Amino acid sequence: MEIKVLGTRQGESSNSHFVSLLVDDVIALDAGNLTSALSLKEQSVVRHILVTHRHYDHIKDLATFGFNSLGRGRTKIYCSSETREAIETTIFNTDIWLNFFTLPNPVSPTFIHVSVEPGSPFIIEGYNILPLRVIHSVPALAYAITSPNGGTLLYSGDSGVGSGSAWAATKPDVLVVEITFPDTLVDSALSFGHLTPELLAGELNTFRDVQGYLPKIAAVHINPYYENEIVAGVANIARRLSVDISIPQEGAIITVGAESKANRRTRIDVIG
Ligand SMILES: [Zn+2]
Ligand SMILES: [Zn+2]
Repeated sequence: MEIKVLGTRQGESSNSHFVSLLVDDVIALDAGNLTSALSLKEQSVVRHILVTHRHYDHIKDLATFGFNSLGRGRTKIYCSSETREAIETTIFNTDIWLNFFTLPNPVSPTFIHVSVEPGSPFIIEGYNILPLRVIHSVPALAYAITSPNGGTLLYSGDSGVGSGSAWAATKPDVLVVEITFPDTLVDSALSFGHLTPELLAGELNTFRDVQGYLPKIAAVHINPYYENEIVAGVANIARRLSVDISIPQEGAIITVGAESKANRRTRIDVIG
């Protein structure tokens, strides 16, 4: 399973974009940076978008993706009913834009909503998807994705303290997890339901207590104003926990799975 990292930061600028991941070109995770990171041809291949929660940095490009694909096929949007309602009353509000859940016509709309429930797995094109409830300031999900060829990715979405026990319901090869704030802003992290490096260490200890190992980790949702502090904090916890934690750049490729090679569970290649 190949994961293309389309956006990795909690901030928008010429070189930092909101979080989106793309699984084997066809399944997107969150829509923070779907359209500016993909050509129109690449967008036309994406037929499934898993949305973790309603915050703008995770739904932003649903509006542009929907517009680009209007009348050119249908895409399934997987999220809770509460998240769909929030999308429909905000960025799909017809006072400011278009409702792609009903256009070009309600019988054959651009976006088809698939309601998901935490703990209830489902299949997309052979991939097993397990949504998990995580702790955040609004209702939020993580997604565990297991490839038909083996290998499991766990994407945390936005998650705060207490999420580690939810992650431990799965056995991922790779965890893509948020770290939004440095440890000096732990109070902000706690009040907004986000993680710092040390808060992540606590969640990883919870995971390891249950599962007996730690997966390879890629940290995203980095606030660019605090990037240097976060990088230093990540180096500290990686050393202390003896775990591999990377902070991928946009355009990075994360490969998840055995690739038919025995004893080689995971490989992470970073390009760009
Ligand atoms: Zn959020
Ligand atoms: Zn966010």
